[in-house]
Order: sequence, then C-alpha cells, then structure tokens
Amino acid sequence: MILRFFSYYRPHKKLFVLDFSSAVVVAVLELAFPLAVQWFIDELLPSNDWPAIVWVSLGLLLLYVMSTFLQYIVNYWGHKLGINIETDMRKELFQHVQKQSFRFFDNTKTGHIMSRITNDLFDIGELAHHGPEDLFIAVMTFVGAFWIMFTINVKLALVSLLVVPFLVWLIVYCNLKMNKAWKQMFSNIADVNARVEDSVSGVRVVQSFTNEDHEIARFTKNNERFRLAKIGAYRVMSFSSSGIYMLTRLIILVVLVYGAWLSFTGQLSYGELVGFVLYINVLFKPIDKISALMELYPKGMAGFKRFTELIDKQPEVADSKDALQVAALEGDIQFRDVTFSYENHKPVLSGINLQINAGETVAFVGPSGAGKTTICSLIPRFYDVDEGAIAIDGIDIREMTKSSLRSQIGIVQQDVFLFTGTLRENIAYGMLNASEEEIAGAARRAHLEDFIQGLPDKYETQIGERGLKLSGGQKQRIAIARMFLKNPPILILDEATSALDTETEGIIQKALTELAKDRTTLVIAHRLATIRNADRIVVVTENGIAEEGRHDELIDQGGIFAKLHSVQYQQ
Ligand code: ADP
Ligand code: MG
Repeated sequence: MILRFFSYYRPHKKLFVLDFSSAVVVAVLELAFPLAVQWFIDELLPSNDWPAIVWVSLGLLLLYVMSTFLQYIVNYWGHKLGINIETDMRKELFQHVQKQSFRFFDNTKTGHIMSRITNDLFDIGELAHHGPEDLFIAVMTFVGAFWIMFTINVKLALVSLLVVPFLVWLIVYCNLKMNKAWKQMFSNIADVNARVEDSVSGVRVVQSFTNEDHEIARFTKNNERFRLAKIGAYRVMSFSSSGIYMLTRLIILVVLVYGAWLSFTGQLSYGELVGFVLYINVLFKPIDKISALMELYPKGMAGFKRFTELIDKQPEVADSKDALQVAALEGDIQFRDVTFSYENHKPVLSGINLQINAGETVAFVGPSGAGKTTICSLIPRFYDVDEGAIAIDGIDIREMTKSSLRSQIGIVQQDVFLFTGTLRENIAYGMLNASEEEIAGAARRAHLEDFIQGLPDKYETQIGERGLKLSGGQKQRIAIARMFLKNPPILILDEATSALDTETEGIIQKALTELAKDRTTLVIAHRLATIRNADRIVVVTENGIAEEGRHDELIDQGGIFAKLHSVQYQQ
C-alpha cells in the first residue's frame, strides 16, 4: 500500500527532491542553532570581545535568512507537490469511473462515487507532502538532538530519555484508534452524499408525496452518524496532543531541576544548561510534527485505501487483447443462443436466437419487464452475454473494441439526457467536431429548425438546470439530431415516443422514419400503431421470443400480438 502510494510521486520527482533536500537543510540548521547559543554563552560572553560578538551575530542572521528562505520553499513547493499528487489521483479516478460498465453503476450510488472523487482525496495531498518529509526530518532531528544532548551531558540526556516509552505508547495507541475513526467518518460522509443525491434528484417525488419530513429524518440519521464519527476522531486527537504536551513540558521541568543541581555541583556550565533546554525544544518540534502526522496519516491513508479499492475494480466489459477496430458495419445482427442475467442465476434472457438483416426495421413488443431493453443493451455491450454470442456482420461483438462497436450504434431512449450547456453543445454531442452547417443540417432533419430560430439566442440558448426547459418532444428531437450527426448504421429506438402525446408523436415519428432510412433499426414500441410499417415484429415475453412475423401475419395468427392489438384498439 505504501509503495503504491509512493508510485504517485514519480511524475513529480524533481519537486520532491527540491522540497525534501530543502527540508533536510532546514533541519540541520535547526540542530546547529542551540550549539551556537551554547558556545556564545560559554566562550564568547566571557571573552568580552565585542566585535566578535557582532560578527557572530551577523553570521547567525545570515543563517536565519537562509533558513527562512528554505522554509518558504518547503512550504510552498511541498504543498504544490501534494496538491499535484492529489489532482493526479482525482483525474485517474474520474477516468476510471467513466470506463466502468453499466453493472457498476447499477450497483453503486452516485453519492458514493462523488465522495470517492472529492472528499476522500482531500487529505491525501497533505499527506503526500508532509508524510515522507516530516517523518524523515522528525527522525533525523530527534536522533540528532538526542545525540548532541548526550555529548553535552550523559546523565541529563538519560533522564530525558525516560519520557520516550510513554510517548511511543501514546502515539501508537492513538494512531490505531484514529485509523478506525477516520475510516468510519469517510464511509459516513459518503452515505450523507448519497442521501443528498437521492433526495435532490428525487425531490419532485418527495414533494408530491409530501414526504419531506421523512427525508429529513433519514438525512438527519446519516448526518448524526457522521457527526459522532468525526467527534470520536477528534476526541482521540485531542487526547493525544494534550498527552504529548504534558509529557514534553514534564521533561523541561525535570531537566531544569536536575540541571540546576548538576550545575550547583559543578558538573554543568550555564551555557550547557541553556543549550540543553534549547535542544529539548528542538526535540519537541518533531514530536509535534509526528503527532500532526498521526492525525494526517490515518486520514490520508483511509482515503487512499478507498481510492485504490475503486481503481482496482476492473471494468466488467473490456476489450480483448487483439480486439478489432471496426468501421462502417453493414448492420447484420445475429443472436445465437444468448443467455443473460443481471443477477446470478436469474436469467432474464435464455436461449435467444434472432437474425436481423442489414437495413431491416425490426420492432419489439411485449409486456414490460419481458426483456426488450435488455436485448438491445447487449448489442453495444453495455453488458456481456453469459452464454451464446452476438455477432454483427458475422463478427462476434466481443472481438471488436468497445469504442468502435459503439460508434456504429445509435440509441434513442424515452428519457433524453441533456447536459448543462447550450443547444449547440447538446446537439453536437453526437459528433463533437461537427461544423455549423452539419449542426444546422441535423437540426433541420430533426424538425428542430423552426423552434431554434424562434429563440432569441438561437443555438446559443442555455438549457438544463439554469436555462430553458424543454418539452419531452423537443428533447426527443435533440436526441434525434444527435443521431443524424452520429450517423450510425445501427439504430435502437427504445420507447422513444412512448412518453409523448399522440400529436407530438406524429411529428417525431416523421423525423424518426427519416432517421431510420438505410439503417438497421430496432424499435421498441408501446403503441402498436407506430410499428405498423416495420419489416418484422418480434413478440418478447418472459419466456423469450414468442412470435415473429409481419404485422398482418401476426394478426392473422391470432396469437399474443393479435390479442395485444385488439386490446389497444378496443377503445
Ligand atoms: P422491458 O424493456 O421489456 O420492459 P427490461 O429489459 O427492462 O424489460 O427488463 C427485463 C428484466 O430485467 C426485468 O425483470 C427487470 O426487472 C430486469 N432488469 C432490467 N434492468 C436491470 C438492471 N439494471 N439490473 C437488474 N435487473 C434489471
Ligand atoms: Mg424497456
């Protein structure tokens, strides 16, 4: 885990070396100052040599200035290093999450993902900066100060050593407790985020059921858990820093008393006593640093651990080693004995065989929950089949790269997701480098032109949360315009018009018919009138494909489709 943490320093080696070496020099200077003071008192003072005192003081001033400058470097460049590492990790995590397969998002709350990418990494930068540097410096000054203290006076040094076991115990004990507390806190704040995400995206449902109080109560519970965990962590922290404070002051007192006695009996000079006390102060500094590190380390590592957990999660649907880069597929789709389940041992599809010819329009009908959407999600490999295979133009889709396969498939669903931004950006999502003319052309073919020209800002109109609200039909037409830009040979229309009123549906249907021209098209439709002209209709039930044929053939057969049809046209 530690080695892995250090691997993130690699791109910032130079910064690390600069920061680290400056810190070492600062520490050495720190160690040298008390010796200078001691020499000042014992040697220089009795000599009455005023010019020498001035020169020595100027020399010390120079060292102080140098040390100050180096401290600036340590502070600024060191933090820069930490922030860079934190940002790298955040970027890596975002990239990684973008690549995850659908099943990951089925099983993970958005709020939890948000937490991982934001809060969890907050302390990692601080740890990256302070961790190795402070630890090294602390050990170095600690050992150095003790060594010098021994050379000043062995008895006094031995007495001060007595405190070390207590300090070690305190640090180790509190570290363990704090580790647990921070981990708890991170998991609690992730829950809080998940609650916020849930009740904000679902606020319309919440308010229509007037369940605000219920939501507040649930939120309060999570928030309270977070409060307790964080307070718990700070209790341990306060205990440890007070303990350290007490122990370190205690040595000063002991050293003063014992040192006074030693100097009465002529075993210690005044300069040595002052020097010794100053060294105890030098000794405190790393202890303070270590205790700060003790807070930081478990916090940062708890975040890092959650980071690696997510980074190690490989996307379920991945490219095989020598995957094909396909382009311009014909669009002949074949399901061969396909079995698929979302959860183990509960197959949603089993033994599905289906041939869709290039350029054909095939409609899927059947009760909701039968598996129509699932059939369509398998074609772009949003999920991989458990058994059997799906081939396009005779090539198993698992042998194609995900990106090239998906570039050949366009999907229009009932819910259209619009990004915060302008109309232009949202249409151009179908082809990011589309030109003005291409965007306008797509808008025209999606019957959006008149609507857009009627807006004061035209294509630059802001939509989304803080902009224009669009109707279902308008959103649907944006989705269609995206498809005209993407221009894929295979098109999937999953209840694209189901949420629209019949009149709007008529307009959209025209645009969709134009879109479907010369493409292999899979249409899932609720209203049977919209699929009258399909080349073939496939009736899907919970038991798989029940019927297949042309509209009139199926009506004549008098089976499931005929029954669905008569129910819809009774009124
Ligand atoms: P249809 O589109 O025909 O209404 P679906 O393909 O959406 O049906 O769903 C088929 C079955 O799979 C249903 O029982 C549904 O509950 C289940 N299902 C759909 N999506 C998921 C998912 N992401 N995770 C688990 N089960 C799912
Ligand atoms: Mg569906």
